[in-house]
Amino acid sequence: MGENLEILQSVQSQYKKAVEDLSLDQAVYEILKDPERLIEVSLPIKMDDGSTKVFKAFRSAHSSILGPSKGGVRFNENVNANEVKALSMMMTIKSALLSLPLGGGKGGLRVDPKSLSEREVESLARSYVRAMNNYLGSDIDVPAPDVNTNPKIMGYFVDEYIALNRGRLDLGTFTGKPICLGGSLARTEATGYGLALSVKYAYEKRGESLELKTFAIQGFGNVGYFAAKYLSEFGAKLVAVNTSDKTAESGSSAIYKASGFDVEDLQAIREKEGSVLKYDEAEKITNEEFFALDVDILLPCALENSIDEKIAPSIKARLIGEGANGPTTDKAVEILEDKGVLIIPDILANSGGVLVSYYEWVQNRTGEYLTFEEVQDKQREKMTRVLDEVFAIANDKKVNLRRASFMKALQRLSDGLKFRGRF
Ligand code: NAD
Repeated sequence: MGENLEILQSVQSQYKKAVEDLSLDQAVYEILKDPERLIEVSLPIKMDDGSTKVFKAFRSAHSSILGPSKGGVRFNENVNANEVKALSMMMTIKSALLSLPLGGGKGGLRVDPKSLSEREVESLARSYVRAMNNYLGSDIDVPAPDVNTNPKIMGYFVDEYIALNRGRLDLGTFTGKPICLGGSLARTEATGYGLALSVKYAYEKRGESLELKTFAIQGFGNVGYFAAKYLSEFGAKLVAVNTSDKTAESGSSAIYKASGFDVEDLQAIREKEGSVLKYDEAEKITNEEFFALDVDILLPCALENSIDEKIAPSIKARLIGEGANGPTTDKAVEILEDKGVLIIPDILANSGGVLVSYYEWVQNRTGEYLTFEEVQDKQREKMTRVLDEVFAIANDKKVNLRRASFMKALQRLSDGLKFRGRF
């Protein structure tokens, strides 16, 4: 019950506030404050050494009011029911904000995949699909990659799903797949690219350019790496990276280089050595020193709750782009906004992932495949339109971007509920 209750209550209170802001029927909140379906299972796996281990797994399908529930599956040692519930509620908001014919879902498996062999990971992935099979499908619930999952894992998901369903090649049941299995070009890049686009948009909105603005990034995984790559291409300078470090007291530590990193050098080190912290031409700094750096932009791209009320007062960045889901606690948001920091919230800043997953789902259904450039052009055009709308609502109603995003999304969800006769 207790685990991650704070993040769940925070999302629920954002739903409540938006229902009040828009003077919607209270039934809208009552219907949406919990997921439509939450599955919790125990998965026994034969390990390489002959022993059997049991792993907890979850799938929350929050809402299918506007379409099949959609959202990633993470493999992480702290996954719990409240976390997947909260994250699935955020997915519903993202899909509605982008006006997609999709709802929100999220799944997770409680495991540190680094402690497993490749065969054990595959076995777990397949058993996850076996446990959830009755509730998966391109018109029911559509998983995708998230923390510690990737196209390779989606490949195992697809293979198991086809085997379980009389060979039905319903490829749109999963997104973020390998390209040869119906994946979309530009999906891997999509979340980081969208985050970089959002940051660029915010600067241009104030009549400033990104040229030589400095940025620091927490988490150099899928989202962090591509955000760093595209922001660098837009002219900004990456000066610090914070990543997990089991040897550090806080669980993470960072590297700093005032003259700026070459993003591809960092990626090469990560691929070769397993961590960007092995880059030895940079100063090694602590987690606390990282957050207190005098940079223009801070991009949390790791996990939830990494910026709390203890870290927030030290932050000097003027703009935070939330690549991760829920990286800033409510108390931290208050402290940062009092200092005049602009926060581009997760539901907007990292929505490029679900947007291009949607393009993948459409491509699987139509059988017509887009080029890399076509996908990125569509993503840029759509995200710019949504950013325009959210910034306009925020300005009009004098609310922050998170509240403006919730207002736009909740209006759509309320309309959907009304036309389906739910209230
Ligand atoms: P990933 O597994 O590829 O990367 C996560 C990174 O965070 C890794 O570099 C890891 O070392 C680092 N990390 C983990 N714990 C840390 C800690 N305590 N301190 C510092 N760094 C830490 O995962 P990802 O797909 O990049 O996802 C990152 C975040 O973005 C998650 O919150 C995820 O839900 C969110 N997100 C991902 C997508 C997507 O398309 N992948 C879409 C939307 C949102």
